[in-house]
This record gives sequence, C-alpha cells and structure tokens, in this order.
Amino acid sequence: MSESSRVNLLNLSLGELREFCVSLGEKPFRATQIMKWIYQWGATSFEGMNNIKKELREKLAQVAEIRAPEIISEQRSADGTMKWALDVGDGQVVETVLIPEEGRNTLCISTQVGCPINCAFCRTGAGGFNRNLTISEIIGQVFVASQRVGFRQSGDEKAISNVVMMGMGEPLLNVKNVIAVTEILLDDNCFGLSKRRVTISTAGVVPVLKQIAGKVDVALALSLHAPDDELRDKLVPLNRRHNIASVLNAVRDYVAKSNANCGRVTIEYVLLDHVNDSMEQAEALARLLKDVPCKINLIPFNPHDGADFNKPSNSRVDRFCKVLMSHGYTVITRTTRGDDIAAACGQLAGQVKDKLSKIASRQVSDGDSAS
Ligand code: SAH
Repeated sequence: MSESSRVNLLNLSLGELREFCVSLGEKPFRATQIMKWIYQWGATSFEGMNNIKKELREKLAQVAEIRAPEIISEQRSADGTMKWALDVGDGQVVETVLIPEEGRNTLCISTQVGCPINCAFCRTGAGGFNRNLTISEIIGQVFVASQRVGFRQSGDEKAISNVVMMGMGEPLLNVKNVIAVTEILLDDNCFGLSKRRVTISTAGVVPVLKQIAGKVDVALALSLHAPDDELRDKLVPLNRRHNIASVLNAVRDYVAKSNANCGRVTIEYVLLDHVNDSMEQAEALARLLKDVPCKINLIPFNPHDGADFNKPSNSRVDRFCKVLMSHGYTVITRTTRGDDIAAACGQLAGQVKDKLSKIASRQVSDGDSAS
C-alpha cells in the first residue's frame, strides 16, 4: 500500500480511531494503547509499541501511518518564543507559536489556512482564506512542537501545558475538526490537558457558539475590539451578521454551561491608536460588559506591513486599562511576544512564497534567526 493510501492516525477523531481498530478485528482498547503511544510518547511508527502484538504492529504498518505536517522553518525569538512554519501541501503554510512563560508553555495553533473573517487590522485575514485545516494538520502542530520541547509524559518542564486557538483562522468555522482536536488535547490517554488550559478564541460565530454550548467545554475567548456596533462593523466584518448583543448573549450562554471558564469569558480587545482606545470608549466598554462575567485582555496592536493602524502609546494603553479597572474589571494587558520573528498576535501570514522570501531576507539581514 502506498504511503498516501494508508490511514493517517493523526487524522482520526478518538471515536474514529476506535472504529478503525474494530475494523481491523481488534478490541477498542487497542485504540487506547495506540493513543498513548502517539500523543503521550510521540511515536511515529508502530515498531516500538511493545505492548501490542507483533502481527498487529505489522498489520498497522501496512495500513496506517502517523504523519504530522512537515516543519519547513523554525525560528526562535530573543524572548524565547518559537515559531514553526508547517507545510500543509499545495504551497500552503501554517504557523504555530510557542510562548514559554513562568510556570506554563502556551502553544498558539492555527485552525485554517488564511481566514475568511478579514478583520481590518489582522494580517492573516488580509491574505484571504484558503481552506480548513484537517485534524492531523491541527493536532499535528501540537505533536511536532512536543517533539521539539518534550511530551508531558516525559516529565519535561518545557512540555506544552496550554493550547490557545489564536493562530491563523477562525476555529468556529472549522468546528468539526476543532472539536475532534479538543478531545485529543483533553483526553487522559492523549495530551491530558486541563480544560481550563485549552482556549478557543472566536470573532463570534453565533450559530456555532449556540450549537456547541453545553457540548464543548474548554475556555472561551471572544474577540470584541469595539464597544459599539458601528465601530465593530468596520473592524470585525462578521459583526454585520451577528451584532454585539447577539454575540454577548451566545457567549453568556456558553459560559453558563461550561466548567472550564470558571464562569467567565475572556474578552479580547486589540487597542488601535485613536480608533478604539479613548477614555470614552473604555467607559462605553465598561457599560457594555456590566452583565457579562468576564476578564478583559487588552492587546496593543501589533504592527505589520500594509496595516493602516498604529499601536497606541503606553500612556493611552494605561489610561484605557485604568478606566476598566476602576469599574472593577480584571484586566490583563498582553505583552507582545515574538514580534521580532513576526509571531505576535495577528502577524501570522502563511504563503510559501511570502514565507520563503522572508526567511531568505532575514538570513541575509541577521544570519542566525532561524536557529
Ligand atoms: N479568529 C480568532 C482567532 C484570531 S487571532 C478570533 O478572532 O478570535 C487571536 C487574537 O489576535 C484575536 O483577538 C485577533 O483579533 C487578534 N489580532 C489579530 N491581529 C492583531 C494585531 N495585528 N495585533 C494585535 N492583535 C491582533
């Protein structure tokens, strides 16, 4: 059987992996053994799966494979942030970013090639939308990053402890695969992450939020970015279909049915200089959210080529933050990580051509950033 006609086990949901084992005449517990080998130990072949009988290992090698997307570049920022570009075929690239912090290592993963939402300030959206990522292309980002920094089972301190779907794409527009991925992230036989440490970030796809409320239980972040519909219509075009009131209702409902959020949604708010960062807008935001149990994450705009926006001064960011705090909100101002390697929020792009020319120019300019 050729490589491509083998079933890629990384591409199966956990239910499908069980069905696959049954289709080979095996008991479903074989699936649990295989999951552990793959997601806890990083196995890429069947030979070493020594609790599985030899005939089955040979059979598996004939009909199945464990294949993550190939890494085409690895970059390390001065602040320790790492970014990998992964080849997902047809000249398409997706990026994944590891942010090491005191006590946790957060992996920011992509869920689509490009993004159809097209937020006015985001570099990913500017490149247009190509397609949804498959399960193997999404979970494969966690797999290959773990191959680099260690799987949790190995007890490595650097192992990934948190996963945020804040890379390229809108997770709720690829919801079937995103659900399969969250199952693999949470299952104790796989990555075994706490549901509070897996976050779906969304621009507010209301029908899908309604559909998953009470069924998917991971942390939720809402990209709000404006205190009123008039401005949000311009910044997040999806708002023209699902306005702020309907989004906040759906979010409240999701959070009420979830344990992972401890009752609160994270509101993300990109601060754009003189666009949405005035004191009046902070007051309006405080009023808007008064019935929404939340914490607020302020993200000073990360500049990129072709954006018509600027990053506000620190004093404007502070002022905005203080207004919200004076109303009793928990506010975190996100520090920019990895912007020297274009790994910060909204800086992920994804065309091979763009990518390769960037790598080439960087190598010319500073020689060693892709170490
Ligand atoms: N589609 C998802 C994930 C997007 S990326 C969502 O909308 O939530 C994660 C966050 O980064 C979002 O809040 C997004 O709006 C924000 N972001 C995008 N471009 C940015 C930029 N240039 N600077 C700062 N944050 C940005």
